[in-house]
Amino acid sequence: MREYLWEAIKDVPVDYIEIRIEETTRTRVDFVGRELEQIGTVERRGGCVRVLSNGGWGFASFNDIDNLKANVLKAADMARLVGNSGARLAQITPITAEYLIGWGKDPIQVSLSEKQQLCETYNRLILNTPKVQTTSVRYRDIALKKYLLTSEGTYLSQQGIFCGISLAAIAKEGSNIQQSHFSTGDFRGYAQVEGLEDKAESVAKSAVDLLSAEQISGGKYTVIIDPKLCGVFVHEAFGHLSEADFLYENPHLQGLMPLGARFGADDLSIVDFPGLEGEAGYYPYDDEGVPGTKTYLIKDGILSNRLHSRETSLMMNEPLSGNARAIDYSHEPIVRMSNTYLESRNCKFEEMLEGVSLGVYARGAIGGMTNCEMFTFSAEEAFLIENGRITKPLRDVVLTGNVFETLANIDAIGNDVVFYGGLGGCGKAGQSPLPVSTGGPHIRVQDVTIGGR
Ligand SMILES: [Zn+2]
Repeated sequence: MREYLWEAIKDVPVDYIEIRIEETTRTRVDFVGRELEQIGTVERRGGCVRVLSNGGWGFASFNDIDNLKANVLKAADMARLVGNSGARLAQITPITAEYLIGWGKDPIQVSLSEKQQLCETYNRLILNTPKVQTTSVRYRDIALKKYLLTSEGTYLSQQGIFCGISLAAIAKEGSNIQQSHFSTGDFRGYAQVEGLEDKAESVAKSAVDLLSAEQISGGKYTVIIDPKLCGVFVHEAFGHLSEADFLYENPHLQGLMPLGARFGADDLSIVDFPGLEGEAGYYPYDDEGVPGTKTYLIKDGILSNRLHSRETSLMMNEPLSGNARAIDYSHEPIVRMSNTYLESRNCKFEEMLEGVSLGVYARGAIGGMTNCEMFTFSAEEAFLIENGRITKPLRDVVLTGNVFETLANIDAIGNDVVFYGGLGGCGKAGQSPLPVSTGGPHIRVQDVTIGGR
């Protein structure tokens, strides 16, 4: 493959060329309610060329990989037409590597009918629970071969197998509708989707239990956030603001986020690290051939780094981080997160509870919105905390606030980090869902605004 790709790009008089070729086989099984909505396997093959010439980018993607040279020339023409927009790339050392991303039981060795049966079993368990109105059970696996060659001499050959499932229940009583879901998805193989009968039952039970939960009066509360919601908060509310391409075009945000500024207590650190083997956001090299690096976005309470592509790293004169990713060959790499998490400290959950006279324990998220530094998240489950004890379930708990104030108000960080992948992934600039994981421990936050009755 390397020689074949090299033939297409050699002797083209431009500053930089990169070719990516991808072959994917995607399997899906979707149950919605009683219906098997979709089942099947789709194969896709194609590639793209990105060319930098005199400060301008050209990009062409294609399904026919037999006419590589013509596509290279097309992208080079486009780059010349675009003209000089000042684009340049930070220097890297060219790398040659071949690697496999995938561990455990190979999903490709499991028949489609077995996958269907597994989904059907989970779906029936959820559907047969009284008061459950409808369900959704979705299985995915993606076998991927990817090649990257650049005119600087980088050559990467990668094979990967992603696999996951999501289980969801919607319960209804009158006009009261409640939902619960579970999702797992990463590079750890097929075993993670097996034996989830307990999860299916607990998803159904959670949705039904929420029907009789109480609503809380709106106001400011001390909130304990579970690892799942902590991960969502770190990714959605803070991580996206650390993406240098977004920040570079947003002077308001640049003013709010100077490196070196204090963003929280001494024990607050937030990290993006592609090198966590098996996690949904795992990769050794990004789509520009830059090694995935452990990047402290916040280190000991101080804003320390941002996420970069080669272009944004040079523009902002900040270190490379290896975060240029494309969802597939029809898109150019842009700055994305990988595995983003809040680092663990040593506070035990019981100790966090002890200090709370009236508060809320919020678990998971069923939806959220962010608008620059403002966020809104709906907790999937929540409980009232009274005098250091969890007393009763709550429903429709919505947390809102300013991410910077919220980070500064974290006053306890747990010792129980959990990472969550899943089928959802991250969306940005029309590229969705990109596999990422989010993680964190339990944290306690003072003065969180909770919407309610
Ligand atoms: Zn995202």
